[in-house]
Amino acid sequence: MRDEYELIIIGAGPGGYVAAVKASKLGLKTAVIENQELGGTCLNRGCIPTKALLHAAKRYREVQLGEQFGIIAKEVSFDYSKVTSYKNETKESLRAGVAQLLKTNKVEVIKGKGTLLKDGSVQVKSQEGEEIYRGKNVLLATGSKAVLPSIEGANLAGIMTSDEMLDFDHIPEHLLIIGGGVIGVEFATVFSSFGSHVTIFEAAERILPTLDLDISRNTAILLKKRGVSLHTKAFIQKIEKERDEFVCTYEEDGKDGGWQKTIKSTSVLFAVGRRANTEGLFDEGVELEMSRGNIAVKENFETSMAHVYAIGDVIGGMQLAHNASSQGIYVAECISGETPFVDLSVVPSCVYFDPEVASVGMTQEEAKKKGIDVVLGKFVTHANGKSIITKEDRGFVKIVAEKETKILLGAQFMCANATDMIGEMGTAISNKMTVQQLRKSMRAHPTYNESIGEALEDCLEKSIHR
Ligand SMILES: Cc1cc2nc3c(=O)[nH]c(=O)nc-3n(C[C@H](O)[C@H](O)[C@H](O)COP(=O)(O)OP(=O)(O)OC[C@H]3O[C@@H](n4cnc5c(N)ncnc54)[C@H](O)[C@@H]3O)c2cc1C
Repeated sequence: MRDEYELIIIGAGPGGYVAAVKASKLGLKTAVIENQELGGTCLNRGCIPTKALLHAAKRYREVQLGEQFGIIAKEVSFDYSKVTSYKNETKESLRAGVAQLLKTNKVEVIKGKGTLLKDGSVQVKSQEGEEIYRGKNVLLATGSKAVLPSIEGANLAGIMTSDEMLDFDHIPEHLLIIGGGVIGVEFATVFSSFGSHVTIFEAAERILPTLDLDISRNTAILLKKRGVSLHTKAFIQKIEKERDEFVCTYEEDGKDGGWQKTIKSTSVLFAVGRRANTEGLFDEGVELEMSRGNIAVKENFETSMAHVYAIGDVIGGMQLAHNASSQGIYVAECISGETPFVDLSVVPSCVYFDPEVASVGMTQEEAKKKGIDVVLGKFVTHANGKSIITKEDRGFVKIVAEKETKILLGAQFMCANATDMIGEMGTAISNKMTVQQLRKSMRAHPTYNESIGEALEDCLEKSIHR
């Protein structure tokens, strides 16, 4: 049995490592247990590597389109091995940063697989052997794993999830992506930019089905314009291997009488969701309450076992890195007796498409379903000076406010820099600001940000450039 900690955290992803640093800064003796790399899914197999690939893909596309700005680059090409080196260097640099941060803040990093025991202590198994650690509080931040559906052939060798796709060492000739959510659309953007023939299959009636309808429609139009084939209300029935190709049998609702058809592809990527990672996490006799496969928690993130907390992807909800980190900070603050002040109900979500997509709070449809009378301010960005200078594709800014009070409720952006601009809307919504309060300050010209000003004016029916 090793010395007692005030907080033991299992998992060093953006939930676990951020909670550890915060707890230590607040004076708690803290340890974090990790059985893979520091930084978790986000840094090693999620946010960071995908955004590095998207950045490289965007640069490649931009160089090809340079002629519209008078820049002529002949014989533009790419070396995918160098693209992946750049992606890996980015991960490594951030991983080293996390290690340094934990060290500077005197967080003990324990390598190995953590298992919660019945008495609340944690067993760690590693190559060095087994050790038991005791803490006053335990935080489970073990994240999630990609799901493979129970379709015949889904387990065939060579079929990928995002984990394997990120380590793929060449550009596939064909890429069939099953799942048209955020991850599916981001991979379609990367590989279509580098020349793959990409086809997306989505079971819902539209891609990005959980996002605003206009975002979903515009994304579909732009993907098609860039050569991506889309099949919605389409269900893959089985996958077989025929020499070097996968043959996928599918049914598409409403087309050709719903007959079964086949499509061939050299590569198949499943992007159909993620489930809580609790493998080996509970010792015999530990029976935490679960909810649809996720660890169930109370409002303060405590599980059904006293002094055992859970945060991040492992509790379900919006599986996003900043959500996990904010929950981690919340728990560290609660345990150390501080009053948490981050608003966990306002979670921005982004798609790193081109143009970028970002949303926070309620859409107009969601507000209507809740019986809230709203006003919608909209600005189409083809009238925004900076978007015209940089020749952006079709985009818009939408802002939802309560009709009577003009209190801001939500925003949906599809435009250049949307993922950075959404922060302003989250701040306004959390602070229950009104349209007039957010409009009070002028915006620099020419900026993409001026579109927010125009949409706010539109909420008041006073838009200048509409
Ligand atoms: C392809 C892809 C792209 C994404 N892009 C974005 C994005 O752009 N923005 C965004 O906000 N989110 C994005 N996400 C989601 C984001 O990565 C997750 O929401 C986030 O990583 C969750 O953080 P976490 O700390 O809960 O879990 P994780 O990051 O999954 O970390 C959990 C850690 O726990 C460790 N662990 C698990 N079990 C044990 C055990 N028993 N003992 C010891 N260690 C253990 C794991 O090895 C892992 O390191 C993306 C995800 C994917 C897959």
